[in-house]
Amino acid sequence: ATPTSIMVGTGRAAELGVLFRKGDALQRLESSKVVAFDKTGTLTEGKPALARSEAAPGWDVAEVLRLAASAEQGSEHPIARALEQAAEGLVQPEVVEAIAGHGLRATVEGRRLLVGAKRLMVREGVAMAGLEAAHDEIAAAGQTPVVVAIDGQVAGVFAVADRVKPGARAAVAALHAQDIRVAMITGDTQATARAIAAELGIDHVEAEVLPEGKLAAVKVLRERFGAVAFVGDGINDAPALAEAEVGIAIGTGTDVAIESADVVLVSGDVAGVVEAFHVSRAVLRNIR
Ligand code: ADP
Ligand code: MG
Repeated sequence: ATPTSIMVGTGRAAELGVLFRKGDALQRLESSKVVAFDKTGTLTEGKPALARSEAAPGWDVAEVLRLAASAEQGSEHPIARALEQAAEGLVQPEVVEAIAGHGLRATVEGRRLLVGAKRLMVREGVAMAGLEAAHDEIAAAGQTPVVVAIDGQVAGVFAVADRVKPGARAAVAALHAQDIRVAMITGDTQATARAIAAELGIDHVEAEVLPEGKLAAVKVLRERFGAVAFVGDGINDAPALAEAEVGIAIGTGTDVAIESADVVLVSGDVAGVVEAFHVSRAVLRNIR
């Protein structure tokens, strides 16, 4: 690529809010075979809200929510904000221990709480009892199930729902139209991830990926399909952004993600990924 054609191309992209931080990212993007998106905050708004609440027999649902939201007060996970906003009468938890990719363990008013994904309950040997059906319905609807156990018994399950970004489905279709595979990598439950992927027309899903596993997921995609462009917003996306042939950060995301990226989508609109491909192809075509 000549310096002039790269400047013209990246200049045009910048006007559309697509910032190329490194000139050679144009070539690497042009030869990318698959675009892998993080889910929360990248394909979805990242601002989930409480959508459904179910208590196990003998439990008051508002009380279960109050204890769970109290346990979550120090957490940075978006699920924590959704529970806090919906709950009343929060108290300070006595002990909190985050369990990466699973949820957390806490003591609130002397009660032992577990709050998180079903796999946290499996790991801790807590049976889902009568809440299995509600859990599966929530996940099948593309919402995230948050399970709460109190003193070793499952006490409730809550649905936390996040909206898909307006341009996400169209962006996936536009990438497919250019023969680029589209994948999603998420820590969320399989069924939830598959429901969102189906809604967006995404063909390949890596779900229940632990925070340190996103980088490995990029390597798996590379082996199967070829060069990978990874799009993400979070602190836990930084290693995958650095590993991918092209790291694309959501401009409204965390600083760590932006610093790890080759391309930044200023507005956070995923249509910028399509624009970035257009520019890379246009520039490289002029050169050949
Ligand atoms: P993601 O960013 O994709 O949600 P994480 O690794 O942060 O990935 O979490 C994976 C899953 O673990 C979440 O989808 C959620 O089900 C559960 N989880 C993690 N942290 C919390 C938390 N603080 N409260 C409740 N659930 C949590
Ligand atoms: Mg994210």
